Amino acid sequence: MSHSIREACGVCGGWAEDQPMAYLACFALYALQHRGQESAGIAVGTGDGGKMWLKKGPGLVSEVFPDTEELKQLPGPLALGHVRYAYSGEGRGPENSQPLLLRYRHGELAIAHNGRLVNGARLREELAEQGAIFQTETDSELLGHLIARQNNPCLEEAVAAAVSRLEGAFAFILCDGKKIIGLRDRHGFRPLSLARLGEKGYFLASETCAFDTIGAQFIRDVAPGEAVVIDDGGIRSYQVLPPAQPSLCLFEFIYFARPDSNLQGKNVHLMRRELGRRLAREHPVDADMVTGVPDSSIAAASGYAEEAGLPYEMALVKNRYIGRTFLRPTQRMREEGVDLKLNAVEKIVRDKRVIIVDDSIVRGTTSVKLVRLMRRAGAREVHLRISSPPVIDACLYGIDMPASQELVARRYKIADIARELGADSIGYLSLEETVAAVGLPGEGLCRACFTGLYTIR
Ligand code: SF4
Repeated sequence: MSHSIREACGVCGGWAEDQPMAYLACFALYALQHRGQESAGIAVGTGDGGKMWLKKGPGLVSEVFPDTEELKQLPGPLALGHVRYAYSGEGRGPENSQPLLLRYRHGELAIAHNGRLVNGARLREELAEQGAIFQTETDSELLGHLIARQNNPCLEEAVAAAVSRLEGAFAFILCDGKKIIGLRDRHGFRPLSLARLGEKGYFLASETCAFDTIGAQFIRDVAPGEAVVIDDGGIRSYQVLPPAQPSLCLFEFIYFARPDSNLQGKNVHLMRRELGRRLAREHPVDADMVTGVPDSSIAAASGYAEEAGLPYEMALVKNRYIGRTFLRPTQRMREEGVDLKLNAVEKIVRDKRVIIVDDSIVRGTTSVKLVRLMRRAGAREVHLRISSPPVIDACLYGIDMPASQELVARRYKIADIARELGADSIGYLSLEETVAAVGLPGEGLCRACFTGLYTIR
């Protein structure tokens, strides 16, 4: 998969008196690390509204929290965590790392979110005209201002009133030092699930893989428009926004979510294998072997191979130890755009007709390199098979994607894309087959970047 598309954030948080909550939030963030690598943070609440503890900073979870033992000693039944990848348009500065810890008339408020408001700029302008001062460019700060303006000591009521002003995609987790509130927008663009933790505790996270990591038991997904409140009184649920057309992000299934997560009860790995099977039926080609682009396309590639009756080979190997700021060592390599994160195995591909399965193509720059790598390793033919439809439009809902005019499927007719990428052929899975593989009603999924039809804008 091209690195020109990224998830925007991962959130988690919960309440439990008998658990080391800061420590568990840290390990939940490790499980959500794929959703954001620019910053990480944890806020911890005392349970009685006392001063909250906060640590956050740029980098990976392991860089921000090198000493997990320190977290184990932190008292407090409440913790809230965040990993972040900034989307274009939102500032990348360190002030935007989350959770935000705000102070207002009724105490402290920690807020973290995943997603993007479509009316964020308008709301910001409106609040600024009324004298609000913003220290970050985050939607979390916007929500904080709206909550403070309710001037209501009851956080549940203030949150319910404030979120009615928000339009767009969001999964928020908030903590006032006494309780945790998790809520999703009324379309449910971004995922948020609920689990049981310990004897009487509960935990919320963007993906269920975080629950497995900390030994929490999945209960259910938070419903679109629902707010879940967790404190020493147990758990309560409110429908704070009227339910609307459900629009869970289809790309979560195709690429973002971890394969061991379940989304709306569907295991992501099994669903991706089904994408591959359907891709093989829709776009067969005479070939000797199938390989997948590590890691996110391996499930789809194995499904393709299974259905096509071809061997699956590990012809592309990923180097996991090349850092994010990696620079290619020689000028020639830089000019040729050699990607040292991936290596094609010559002994496997020489003189072979190779099918490369990738989960998506955005700009096409990674695909060009992949095809070149294969040819350099001696592949006789290189066929690209994509386990999702062509991406033709940008995301308005918090996923960092290039502008529409940079998308290869926007710039060229499908028939011409193989030539542009240097491949012998290309086949994209149709939208109908993609939705059928997910196994949920198409109208319940956001498909806007594949169709150009936005639920809200
Ligand atoms: S536009 Fe695409 S990436 Fe954005 S929420 Fe919808 S399906 Fe997901």
